[in-house]
Amino acid sequence: MAKGKYRFNADSLIYEKIEYSPKRILTIGFVYIISFFVLGFSFMLLWLNFFPSAQEKQLMQENAELRMQYKVLNTKLGTVQSVLEDIAHRDNNIYRVIFEADPIPNEVRTAGFGGVNRYADLESKPNMEIVVETANRLDKLYKMLYVQTLSFDSVINLARNKEDMLRSIPAIQPLADRDLTGFASGFGYRIHPIYKTYKMHTGIDLTAPLGTKIYATGDGTVSLARFERGYGKCVFIDHGYNFETVYAHMSMILVKPGQKVKRGEVIGLVGNTGVSTGPHLHYEVRKGKKTVNPINYFMNDLSPEEYDEMLRVSIRPSQTLD
Ligand SMILES: [Zn+2]
Repeated sequence: MAKGKYRFNADSLIYEKIEYSPKRILTIGFVYIISFFVLGFSFMLLWLNFFPSAQEKQLMQENAELRMQYKVLNTKLGTVQSVLEDIAHRDNNIYRVIFEADPIPNEVRTAGFGGVNRYADLESKPNMEIVVETANRLDKLYKMLYVQTLSFDSVINLARNKEDMLRSIPAIQPLADRDLTGFASGFGYRIHPIYKTYKMHTGIDLTAPLGTKIYATGDGTVSLARFERGYGKCVFIDHGYNFETVYAHMSMILVKPGQKVKRGEVIGLVGNTGVSTGPHLHYEVRKGKKTVNPINYFMNDLSPEEYDEMLRVSIRPSQTLD
């Protein structure tokens, strides 16, 4: 191989040796070195891409293990969630029923779910779906747990007040059995005795001689004691816990508004005042402003057989005294 490079000179017709300046030699050398490094580096990147290093292999393994752990965590969260749902179900259908509290609506129990995605930043990163899913699940559990805690707080309060509540809720007959001459009419739709139209009878009519003692059916405060159109001389008792009782058509009122009364206390005497066709007591039980069948609140007085009989009579549409 020839040493050096030659160029043909057309004028002198001879080959002339090309002389490189030291600067040019340096430049060429530099270009070679740079090219070498660039090529080398590219090969290294390719190598690393296809053949991970020991450290990378370890990281990949750790990644896989983490993913597995997240999956296990998610399964456990699922179990916790179903336990919590079962507790919520029992809370609504047993505890809150025992204490006559309304169930917590599902919308409240699950309030605040959905809406803004707080993990949108994370979601865009690879392998983050499982992290986001777990975080969302935990948030949901946290909220459910919070609502459940509040509910149990109120149930505990109700339990503490239960004694008071049991004394207050209407639970006896407003007239003594020995005084009762009949059970004239029950709760529900029937023909009105005076207006002769099909009307809701919001209470029960118990017949007894004029002047028979009428008893408060639970502890409470007299909220109204006066003559009212229709009801005649009547007494309303507020028992708290959303309960109110009404005693109508009295011949005499024996309590005053604001007066505290105990269950079994005499509050008035049977009469025939207001819209009434004969001496009787019209008795109503209201729960949360809605009238309910008072028969369901007589349990203290009656044997199961008597209760069944009362219930049978009380829901049979019949003539009322109003
Ligand atoms: Zn009536």
